[in-house]
Amino acid sequence: MNVQHKVSKKLLNPGSGFLNGYTHTLNPYAGCSFACSYCYVRRMPVALFRKDSWGTWVDVKTGAKEQLVKELRRAKTKGPVTLFMSSSTDPYQPVEYKEQVTRGLLEAMVEVPPDFVLVQTRSPLVTRDTDLFLRLGERVRVSMTVETDLDHIRRLFTPSAPPIQARLKALSELKTAGVRTQAAIAPVLPSSEDFPRLLKKAVDRVCIDDYFMGDGSKGRRTEQLGISQHYSINELDGWYDPQAYLLVKDRLLQWFDEEQIKISQEGFLP
Ligand code: SF4
Repeated sequence: MNVQHKVSKKLLNPGSGFLNGYTHTLNPYAGCSFACSYCYVRRMPVALFRKDSWGTWVDVKTGAKEQLVKELRRAKTKGPVTLFMSSSTDPYQPVEYKEQVTRGLLEAMVEVPPDFVLVQTRSPLVTRDTDLFLRLGERVRVSMTVETDLDHIRRLFTPSAPPIQARLKALSELKTAGVRTQAAIAPVLPSSEDFPRLLKKAVDRVCIDDYFMGDGSKGRRTEQLGISQHYSINELDGWYDPQAYLLVKDRLLQWFDEEQIKISQEGFLP
């Protein structure tokens, strides 16, 4: 892993496209060592203009906490501030154990609170910051990606990402502590009929999203990544389908109320 430290000059960027419900996006790092095969960031300039391949490098934003305090103060003079953390990295990827940039950003938010922040991750490390989430209270929701209940499927698509069981455990711990959470089945990966029962034990809100609704290009970016091959090689073609999410939704409805199930962008709104 090529880890470099770079002074952060500007942390808050305007929310746009799929995230246009937010005033800003916020990324503690550039790059992501989870290296998910389907990651749409692989097709974005931050990855395309880099020599090293996606998943092999991470830039750590130094001085981020102090910088965010300044930017939040400025942004709040202009109106409500809603943050999506993060749109093109995972704020709790392994480098965060040592660097604690994300923790610093949350401390900045406790000092200068935004109106809302959605913390999007797939890492159980997120539970480390429960104390700060509790201080932010209603202003924060932790959204944990849980694309499937089948860890062999997770290994097929995202071998470097944390195991599913650890994510469900983290969600349970956050919920028990009183932190607002959701499980994001995003993207929809092949799952079992038992998936909703496992989710029900961990969360009371689920968001379903897939490549066709959520990759920002109606599935074109995902197609360019060649993800459909994973499905055909493993005889999972039926799951690479714009209608597949409806099967997951039907299964969820046996365990969740309709209003607890959000679809695509709706589930990620402030
Ligand atoms: S965790 Fe998110 S940002 Fe990181 S590689 Fe996976 S999809 Fe991309």
